[in-house]
Amino acid sequence: MSISENLDENGFPSLQFSLESEEEENGDKDGSIEVNKEGFASDFYNSGTDWSGLLEKNSRKDRPSERKLKQASLFQMWGFAKPDKPDLKPRAFSVSPPPKKTKRSISGDSLNVRMNPNAPPLGKRSYGVRDDRRRVCPFYKKIPGTPFTVDAFRYGLIEGCSAYFLSHFHYDHYGGLSKGWSHGPIYCTPLTARLVRMCLSVNPSFICPLELDTDYVIEGIKVTMLEANHCPGAALIHFRLGDGRCFLHTGDFRACKLMQSYPLLVNQRVNVLYLDTTYCDPKYRFPSKEDVLSFVVKITRNSLKKHPNTLVIVGAYSIGKECVYRAISEALGIKIYANASRRKILQSFSWPELSGRLCSCGEDTPLHVLPISSLLPETLKEYLKAYMHRYTAVLAFRPTGWTYSETFGNQLDLIKPSSKGNIMIYGVPYSEHSSFLELREFVQFLRPDKIIPTVNVGNAAHRDKMQSYFREWLKA
Ligand SMILES: [Zn+2]
Repeated sequence: MSISENLDENGFPSLQFSLESEEEENGDKDGSIEVNKEGFASDFYNSGTDWSGLLEKNSRKDRPSERKLKQASLFQMWGFAKPDKPDLKPRAFSVSPPPKKTKRSISGDSLNVRMNPNAPPLGKRSYGVRDDRRRVCPFYKKIPGTPFTVDAFRYGLIEGCSAYFLSHFHYDHYGGLSKGWSHGPIYCTPLTARLVRMCLSVNPSFICPLELDTDYVIEGIKVTMLEANHCPGAALIHFRLGDGRCFLHTGDFRACKLMQSYPLLVNQRVNVLYLDTTYCDPKYRFPSKEDVLSFVVKITRNSLKKHPNTLVIVGAYSIGKECVYRAISEALGIKIYANASRRKILQSFSWPELSGRLCSCGEDTPLHVLPISSLLPETLKEYLKAYMHRYTAVLAFRPTGWTYSETFGNQLDLIKPSSKGNIMIYGVPYSEHSSFLELREFVQFLRPDKIIPTVNVGNAAHRDKMQSYFREWLKA
């Protein structure tokens, strides 16, 4: 795909690219490109988002109601120089020393990155410079008042950014990270750090692991990683600035009750919530993970009782959905076969309860893990051939988030498998993202001042709709 992106007159991307994703759960993540004529920022305004709460008092006084000026002020306040055109020259970048745990007070002086005085004036200037090699980082990946970005690796060196946060190890978040990464330190959880090092061969001197539930001070900002209930290593990232503002970036997450007991979130003000809005639509209803796991175990148990010579196959991404095959393994007391590269990844989690169940020979267990993309009748039929002397049929589970065909809501028993000969495939709604109702509950618990959606933002109508849900939730 050619890599280019226009900026609108306020310096925001006017094209939104849906990125290739490991999580092909949602029709909106379909890799299509939408041309947004009015620009991302103006669409955000049109959808009713009021940014004025983010502005400093002085700038609000100067520019009381002019939307466009507010936007410009916001851009200015966030401290990112508006690029005239992408700088393609390689540049040296100094790496910050490893973060220190919170021991000292925050110095307010170091919090604000000043706008580049040499940047072109804000106003009616065209920034439609096309370039085939570099995209420009959208504003919602930058944390205001800090030199931080989140999940913004595909933009090369980002001016003003001295710390690159990675929420979790899914391609649509780490894309752009590679062996040659040299643009600055990467902050992530220790598990994600191991994957970045092992799978992408990123120079370890750039990788800065941050333990969960531990306060760090990075560039004068307090940062805490919190369990996100998504894939292994995934974190919510909590930022506390010296001026008291708090921002929470959810990365990808599945909101759950446990999060309502996180000390940093209970009765604490969050000024801006960067929200995983993958399923921010009432049509997205699906059962709890626990219910889906019970259903999968029940089907497997019944099938093996009826047909003991069944090979059970679970589809999985390289990271994520591990609990599905682990649940079967635990309930039935059988090992899990995965190929060498998947075993290496699973072992890197340092989860003994999972590592201890793995085996390296497909003959040793009727429970196999395969890439989710290979769960097709023809592929599984071919796969079964290698084990024909032992198994005569396949029972496969494809753990997806949600598809339009799944109109059963929480009624798992209505799920019917697709069968072709001796191959039976169940699509099960095992989601590692929040359902619509879980999102609502989380937002109503947190009651943030502002919400910035981070998924499905490439379509103005979607953004409009999401903002109306947020307003409704916060009114209640
Ligand atoms: Zn993800």
